[in-house]
Parts: sequence; C-alpha cells; structure tokens
Amino acid sequence: MNVITIIPPLVQLNAPYPSGAYLTSFFKKEGHDAQWADLSIELFYEIFSRSGLEKLFSLSEKTALSMADKAEKNGDDNTAFNIRRYISQKENWIEWIDFITAVLSGGGAREKEHQFLYSPFAPRGQRMENFLEQLAQDGREPSVDDVRFLCSYALADLADYITAVFDKEFSLIRYAEALTVDERTFAEVEKGLDSPILEHFYKTVLERWGTTVIGGLDPAIFSKTLICISIPFAGTFIPALYTARFLKSQYGQKFFICIGGGFVNTELRELRDASLGKYIDAISYDRGYGSYKALFDNTVLESVETAAESMIANPLYKLRIFKNGKVIEPVWQDEKLEKYETEITAQIIPDYSDIDFSRYLRMCDDKNAMHRIWTDGSWIKAYLAHGCYWHRCAFCDTQLDYVCAYRPVEVRNLYEGLLKTAREKNVYGIHFVDEAMPPVALKKFALENARHGNPLYFWGNIRFEKAFTKDLAAFLSYCGLGGVSAGLEVAAESGLENINKGTDISSIVSACAALKEAGVLVHAYMIFGFWYDTTQTIIDSMETLRQFYSAGLLDSCFWHKFVLTKNSTVYTEWKEGKQKKLQPIELKSDKKGGLFARNNIHFKGENQYDKFQLPLENSLNCWMHGDGLEKKVQKWFDFPVPPPTVGRDFIEKKIEEYEEKNRKRGAGLNDKTAQNLWWLGGTPVLCGLSNSSASEYRWLYLMEEQSVPSKLIDIDILLALRPEVTEEVRVAALNTITASPSVISNLKKLLGRGLVLLDF
Ligand code: SF4
Repeated sequence: MNVITIIPPLVQLNAPYPSGAYLTSFFKKEGHDAQWADLSIELFYEIFSRSGLEKLFSLSEKTALSMADKAEKNGDDNTAFNIRRYISQKENWIEWIDFITAVLSGGGAREKEHQFLYSPFAPRGQRMENFLEQLAQDGREPSVDDVRFLCSYALADLADYITAVFDKEFSLIRYAEALTVDERTFAEVEKGLDSPILEHFYKTVLERWGTTVIGGLDPAIFSKTLICISIPFAGTFIPALYTARFLKSQYGQKFFICIGGGFVNTELRELRDASLGKYIDAISYDRGYGSYKALFDNTVLESVETAAESMIANPLYKLRIFKNGKVIEPVWQDEKLEKYETEITAQIIPDYSDIDFSRYLRMCDDKNAMHRIWTDGSWIKAYLAHGCYWHRCAFCDTQLDYVCAYRPVEVRNLYEGLLKTAREKNVYGIHFVDEAMPPVALKKFALENARHGNPLYFWGNIRFEKAFTKDLAAFLSYCGLGGVSAGLEVAAESGLENINKGTDISSIVSACAALKEAGVLVHAYMIFGFWYDTTQTIIDSMETLRQFYSAGLLDSCFWHKFVLTKNSTVYTEWKEGKQKKLQPIELKSDKKGGLFARNNIHFKGENQYDKFQLPLENSLNCWMHGDGLEKKVQKWFDFPVPPPTVGRDFIEKKIEEYEEKNRKRGAGLNDKTAQNLWWLGGTPVLCGLSNSSASEYRWLYLMEEQSVPSKLIDIDILLALRPEVTEEVRVAALNTITASPSVISNLKKLLGRGLVLLDF
C-alpha cells in the first residue's frame, strides 16, 4: 500500500526531524510504497521567499501601519519606527530574501555578501542592528565573514514582524505552541486552526504537495493510503491537525490518517475526545512499528471506509481508533509485537532518501560553540539505542516507552547505513538523538568510524558517569566525537540521590574534565524547583555550577524549572504512598471533554522558586562568557538568600581526585587489560640520531609534546594500536605485547601520553 509520513511545521530549520526517516525505513521494510515529506521546511520557503514576502507584505501592510500609528499615539516611538521601517523597506526585503536563505543554506553569491553588509539599501531590522552595534562595542568593524550572522538575524527580524503584525502564534521553529501546552480542552485547541499563517501560506504548501505527491499515487491502490502525521513537539500540533483536516476535506475517506510522535506519546496518551475523529482515524503510540504492524496485519485496511466497525471487535496494539463518533481503546501489551519492535529497532536504519539536505539552513545566531552545534549544521539524526539504559531518574518519564524500553541498535549495520547516507547527501555530521548514548555502543560506533578513515563527526546526549574516563574521552574524540550534552540537573550530592540520578559529583566532574581535555564540547542541563528543593539546595547547586565554570568544565548550560509529569517515577512513587514531600494537585476535570494535554501535573509549592529563575539565568549567561565568576552567588539576587554551604574549593578538590586517579592508571595495565590499549598519539619521531644512546622519540598528544628514550618503544607496535588499523594487524601487535612483561612495563610509561587504556 501507499504510506506517506508527514512532518508538519514548524521544527528546527537546520535538519529534518528523524521520525519520518525511521518510519519510512520501517514501512519500506514491510514491503510498502513509502515516502516522507518535511512540510516544515516547505512552509519556511513558502513564507521566506520573494513571492512569500510579497504576499506577506500585501496581506499585512494595512495592519502594520495602523499598529505603528497606535504605538506612536501611546508614546512608543521605537515600535512605530520599527514597524514602519519594515513597510518602507519591503522592496529591499523582497529583493534580498532569496540571497539570505541561500547564504544560510550554504549557497549564495559571495560577492553579494559585501553588498549586503555595506549597502545602505540592504534591509535592516532591530536584531541585525543590535548585532552590528555589538561588533562596534567590541571595537571590531563588521567583515564579510559576519554575513552568516547578519542573515540569521535578518530571518529573526522578519519572524518578529510576522509575530507582531500578522500571526501572533508564529515563531521560526514552532507554531502555536502555547495553545497546546496550556490547560485547554480539545475544543479550545481546535480554535487555533484558522490562523493566518496556516490559511494563507500552509494551505498553499498542502495544495501544491497534494497535486504533486498525492496526484502521483497509483490510482489502482489509492484507496489504500496510510498517512502518518508525526507530531514531535507541541509547536507542531495545530499544523498537524490542519494537515489532517485539509487531507480529509480534499480526499475524504481515501486515506487512513494516523498521528503519532513525541508530543502524542507524552501528552496525548489519554486523549479520547471523539471529535478528533473529524480529523484523524487513529493515534499511534510509541515507536509505531508495533501498532502499524498490527494495522497492516488486520483486514481493516482492505476497506478503509468500514475500518472502525471491524475493529470494534478487535482493538489493535497501541492504536486508538476514532471513527463514527466512537473511540476504540488500544491493546497496550502484546508479547509478539513487542518482540517484533525490538527486532526492528535493532536493525533499522533511518531512510533520508526523500530529503534534500541542501534546503536546510545553518543558522548562525550564537557565538557559543556548543549552542552553535545545535543550529549550525544539517545533521543526519539517528540513535544508537531506543530508550535510556539507566531509565531510573525520579523526575523523568520513566514509565514511557521512549525512556523505559531500552533497546540497543546493531551498531555496525547502523554505521554502514549512516555513512552511505552521508555520502549520498554530502552531510558528514551525525546528531545522535538518544536519551543517553550508551558508552559501549558509542565506542563501537567510534571505532567503526576510525576504521573507515574518520569520515563522520558526531555528537549527542550522554549521562555524566564514570564510564567516561579520560582515556575513553580521548578515544572518542580521536574517532570523531565532537560534543555531548547531559543532565547534571542538580549539582549537589544529596540532590543527585533525591532524584536517583545514578551518578555522583565525582563522576560528573571526572566525565566533564575528561571530555574537555579531549576537546569535546560539553553542555549541561540544570533543573531547579524540585519538589524537595529549598532555597539552600538551589544556592548550593548554583555555587557548584559556578565552580564547574570556573574550572572550565562546561561550554554551555541551561537552567530549567522542574515540571512534574504523570509518567515520572516520582509521581508513580507518590501514588504508592512514598515521596511524602510531594503534594500533587489533581488535574481539573470539570472542563467539557476533559483536558487536552495531560502529562504535566501541578504540585503544591511549584511556583515558590520562580523568582530564582532570572538570577540563575543571568549569572549563567555571564559565567558562559567568563564574567562574574568571582562574584559570590548570593550577590546575584535582589532578595536575601543564604550563603552556600559548599566549600569554595569543592570542585577543585574533585579535579585533584580525578588527576590522582589518572596518575595511577598504569597499575591497571596487565596482560589481560592490554587488549584495551589504543595508541592515539602522533607518529613518534626519532630525535638525537647523532648520539644513539641518548636518542629519543617525540610526538604530539593532545597538542603537547611527549618524549621517551628510543629504546623503550617499538614504533610498529604502537602504530598497530591506532584505532584505524585493521583488527588483524592489531591482534598481532597485542599478541606481542601480552607475551612480554617487559613490553607491558615499558608501555605503562606511555599511558596518558598517547597510549590509552579503556575499560571495555
Ligand atoms: S533523565 Fe536522562 S538519564 Fe535519567 S532516566 Fe531520563 S533519559 Fe535516562
């Protein structure tokens, strides 16, 4: 049958969201005629193009000018000036927009960049001007190398105009998010459907896409078309619903329309509002492989029109059906299908064949190196494992498949597939979207990369834990790892225990230090406002974070406010009578139709630490730029807070422990552990040839020169331990090493100086 997966707008602009790639791969494996469409990037170009801006300005000019008049009347001259400037420069925006998007997608005419930067006839908005002013304050003239920044801010300026004048639900990377995350009923959410961007721009995208893609489907099998609309985030739900409504109105019952994806899996598990049946036929939960397999194996799709009736007697695995005003509940457990999902997960390789990566924009709006990784690069997204290998943190959605169902992927198979995609698409960066990349799988992937000549650069989420030793970090970096992000959550020993993080400050410091020394970018997520938090615990966490920055252990960090979710361990434990400090507030159920998004739960005292947010963010922003690190943490608050109970040298001492441990690393090398030796140093160069007894080898390791007397090492053995060397050559070298205690003894002198000893 025909299967089409749609990614609705709006998601990030730099890379396609991977659910379409995974589902399409699965559908093809099942023998279907499958394809996927990223309608998010299509909507972007529908707006941010010459014809798009012509339409935008013609639709919004009147409103814009009356808003400007109103602002002026209210004494807001700045807003009035800014709005009028857009209209006055509309021809300039229209003239330059294709250049702007071309620059950000890696094309564009270099010569025109000079003009865009220096010409007084190029368009300018507030954000662009702020950027140029900042350069002036830094004592620097803008140069043509700044044009990518300027183009990124130009898009942000245009987005500001759209939000202010045309459609308040619009932002560059999400649409109408607030409508779906606040406490609303489905009927209230539905009201967001007829908004201007969807009606005037997205509808055109759907019409064009419908003509080319759906018009091209084989009419003989047209009655058997499954449409899967993936909804990864709240900011894609309204456009997803709009998509479904459009398809139903245009093609009636010819399609069986399902929604699924991250937002659905977390927030809409209990959505049973029968009126959803106006738009969709079913909700598919979790990975989707099991539910779609159940659907395919059921005769229901033979006749889409009578689907629901036949299913009433036979509900399907993880598929909630909406039909003829009825809602048919899913079956949540099925041993056979669960086994099938595990097999698929292990073997699946995301299929990006339908995607043109050259259309994605490498946004350049932050100088922080780690932040840039997120937006500046068209990453191929994939995962090394489904779920989290720890899946025990108290605050996390540990009851849900995407966390608790840890299923590893067959790494070599995945590597081959991703490398093939990289070569076909000319994109050599992999973003692993794992909840936490398992260290063993990560090492395997890294080794595969080295043995293929290190063509791929990769990054993703990890857990800060002791597995990430100094040697493993260096090994991974050598083999292409460029950045990691991980939850530090609460920088205090007792806090880590409270949330059952499964790691401790020593391990976190050691992982961060190891990764930073190896040149890997490190980002940490912090959380405040936990159910057990006090002012003191937050201040202590903040002080520890300050020390992390002071010691250069982090590149970037975000503070998030704790949100209690229905599928978290802590909520489950509260229901079991544990977690006495937590006091959840029952969800309001008096609204007709019940609440729409149901995962978040209020709890008593949840807002008491809101006033900490701004000082926490302000201090962090300064620390990220190396400022204010000496300032006492209490001084960031304009209300009284106690001093931290953490010693000023707390992290320094942890770093000393880490270094001491590494100094003793040689003790762990013997004929058995030697199997895990790897040489990461440069090629040793013989020096002092004129005096052979004093000759020595020198080489570089992590940018530092190293040396040993030449008689101590056998270069051939060392070079055979490089990750890129074949297994056959490596095994021969290891046999020589393990056969000779003196070789092992000499190798101990090279540990940490180019030679690394991994734990696995
Ligand atoms: S917070 Fe991260 S490490 Fe902890 S269980 Fe969730 S996914 Fe795993």
